[in-house]
Amino acid sequence: MAEQLIFLNGEFVKKEDAKVSVYDHGFLYGDGVFEGIRVYSGNVFRLKEHLVRLYESAKAILLHIPYTLEEMTAIVVDTIRQNELLDGYIRLVVSRGPGNLGLDPASCPKPNVVVIAEQLALFPKEMYEAGIPIITVATRRNRPDVLSPQVKSLNYLNNILVRIEAQLAGVSEALMLNDQGYVTEGSGDNVFVVKGNKIVTPPASCGALEGITRNAIIELAQKLGYDMREELVTRHDVYVADEVFLTGTAAEVISVTNVDGRVIGTGVPGPITNVLLDEFRQLVVRDGEKVYEEEKIS
Ligand code: PMP
Repeated sequence: MAEQLIFLNGEFVKKEDAKVSVYDHGFLYGDGVFEGIRVYSGNVFRLKEHLVRLYESAKAILLHIPYTLEEMTAIVVDTIRQNELLDGYIRLVVSRGPGNLGLDPASCPKPNVVVIAEQLALFPKEMYEAGIPIITVATRRNRPDVLSPQVKSLNYLNNILVRIEAQLAGVSEALMLNDQGYVTEGSGDNVFVVKGNKIVTPPASCGALEGITRNAIIELAQKLGYDMREELVTRHDVYVADEVFLTGTAAEVISVTNVDGRVIGTGVPGPITNVLLDEFRQLVVRDGEKVYEEEKIS
């Protein structure tokens, strides 16, 4: 791989030179938005969907992104090309930009736009083969009417608190409940519960981010003829499920084999989870924005 180059406000700069001001309100207040995107064999998976979500998040916080969606598409593709990346992870960040120490975003005339494309440390193979244990945590999901989980903002403290609780309990991921006690999602992934032929994932309105992977899995499940639903999920539903799995850009589809000490199903990744993981892995290499001409890939 070539020396890593970061897109920073219209230029490609070396990683060590990719710096932003400590007065950036993204740094001071978490004021900004971001996306995490995957490239598979030179195809950017669902780039349009990720960018639409980015622009909607920015709109929700009245942050103007100084590029059109088409321009941003070209920037992402160009960043991947500059780094000669075939498989990897893209982090796109738009922060409010540098201002003064006050809260007022009006003191930040110019947002910072950053695109990082790099190789991804994949989740260990054993995690997919064995599944993972998780817990539910005391930290509740931000209420949608307070800070919408649909806004993928730089304020990820809600999620970080969940991750800290999980790690203190000796597991790597956890489920957040909403203020009514319904299951919403993990700290960085959506959750699906399988019972018989029925697959359920919590509706976005209950406090789950509308994940791009989640949507792809819903489509695949419907195509494969499963009874796919978006319905409220309780902890009891999770405990007595045949299968539970998490979905996300980084995790893809990962089986959960234990929740709060309750063994899920037979304690190993279930057949529906395995089918969906397999179908998803086939989908990602054929779907998405092509970065290179054919000959580069072969
Ligand atoms: N929920 C949260 C809170 C997340 O941060 C993510 C990762 N973006 C997801 C779910 C999964 O979304 P996606 O499939 O778009 O990565």
